[in-house]
Amino acid sequence: MGSQEVSSTVDWQGKHVTVAGLGVSGIPAARALHERGALVTVVNDGDDERARAQAAELEALGITVRLGDGATLPPSTELVVTAPGWQPDKPLFLAAAEAGVPVWGDVELAWRLRGTGGREPAPWLAVTGTNGKTTTVRMLASILEAAGLRTAAVGNIGVSLLDAVLGETEYDVLAVELSSYQLHWAPSLRAHSAAVLNLAPDHLDWHGSMAAYAADKGRVYEGNKVACVYNAADPATEDLVREADVEEGCRAIGFTLGAPGPSQLGVVDGILVDRAFVANRQKQAQELAEVTDVNPPAPHNIANALAAAALARAFGVAPAAVRDGLRAFRPDAHRIEHVADIDEVRYVDDSKATNTHATEASLAAYDSIVWIAGGLAKGATFDELVTGAAKRLRGVVLIGADRALIREALTRHAPEVPVVDLDRTDTGAMSEAVARAAELARPGDTVLLAPACASMDMFTNYNKRGEAFADAVRARADESA
Ligand code: ADP
Repeated sequence: MGSQEVSSTVDWQGKHVTVAGLGVSGIPAARALHERGALVTVVNDGDDERARAQAAELEALGITVRLGDGATLPPSTELVVTAPGWQPDKPLFLAAAEAGVPVWGDVELAWRLRGTGGREPAPWLAVTGTNGKTTTVRMLASILEAAGLRTAAVGNIGVSLLDAVLGETEYDVLAVELSSYQLHWAPSLRAHSAAVLNLAPDHLDWHGSMAAYAADKGRVYEGNKVACVYNAADPATEDLVREADVEEGCRAIGFTLGAPGPSQLGVVDGILVDRAFVANRQKQAQELAEVTDVNPPAPHNIANALAAAALARAFGVAPAAVRDGLRAFRPDAHRIEHVADIDEVRYVDDSKATNTHATEASLAAYDSIVWIAGGLAKGATFDELVTGAAKRLRGVVLIGADRALIREALTRHAPEVPVVDLDRTDTGAMSEAVARAAELARPGDTVLLAPACASMDMFTNYNKRGEAFADAVRARADESA
């Protein structure tokens, strides 16, 4: 089953497919392949109660499930379909490579199965990058909807790609968020147009190196038909466009927070303008929206809006729909979310800032900040972040397992900034962090939760961390009311 012969016309009847990982992508994949006549074996590392219950459901359908051993490749396997998070150096994949067995992720499977219901498959507008993916994809879907197109934000977000591709609902176009993991396992994906928003070190433990991470992100441009959208302020994204093998006539389109050159979208006097999808790009610029139509109008978010606009324009959407879609867009929770104002101090929840690149953008959006940070550093260093923000820091409250790394960076680069180091990880820790931040803050300041770290040392996920922060802030607001 070499990749060239496997297409949406694959005859799945009797194919031996191993699905790696029970879970959000594994279970629907196993079902979809089983329904098409494949002989499916699911392998899973874990063997807990939940896994057994899920296994029982699949076994009742006639799917084989092997719990407690995700490492061994079943001997007759012709194709492995993996959960995107599984690390590429796992023994299962090494065995597959040795046996010449292809490995697909959830995105590759969805890409290959689209159109099998007999309908015309919807084109994909794809977005990746280290930060801003979800926001940009949601903005894009909002713009496409404003243009009257049937669409959905799918992928590494809300609706799974497999559901979008195989479900009852028909789409004109899909706004697809793709993670670097998903791209790693999606060799034949060919988007209509795609954007890489930015590129900063993240998940390097998984990819092995920055070069490997960048190469996986760059896969999103492979085979693009109309536009490869890059960030003019981040040359690494433009390099990826240059390296991509695209269809004849596909254009490189930049976005910039400054005045746009030809084939770019940018900002002039508070207006988002398009000098790419206009009749005469040497002389002409098309007004799309005002900066104040972007929600919130922080610099990094204007960049997200420009990227979404570029993809929509590549798909032929009219300028007025870009404006209407941006106006209708509401950001997701825990992304620079304004929680409350207490005693003239603004409290902002950016729990989703789980790496230094995201936190840098968020710290840049405010003038005087009491910063709540810390958690699991995932191998990051904090010197650059702290140096860039030092002047705007009123104070810092540190939480979580790797807080010493941030404290040391503060000692080196911002020794005058007061730091509270919270040595507790119980459920009350966030309340204390907020209380200590409130003590440091002065009227006009912003208390900003932008941890630059993952949350799992103290919380189930970044949502729970953000909720703990917002709960603590609201409790204070009620007290002071
Ligand atoms: P992703 O889906 O890539 O994780 P989100 O849209 O959920 O991105 O935003 C994650 C965090 O990244 C936000 O909380 C914000 O702090 C930050 N962020 C959003 N857009 C950008 C950007 N263009 N550049 C840098 N940081 C950003």
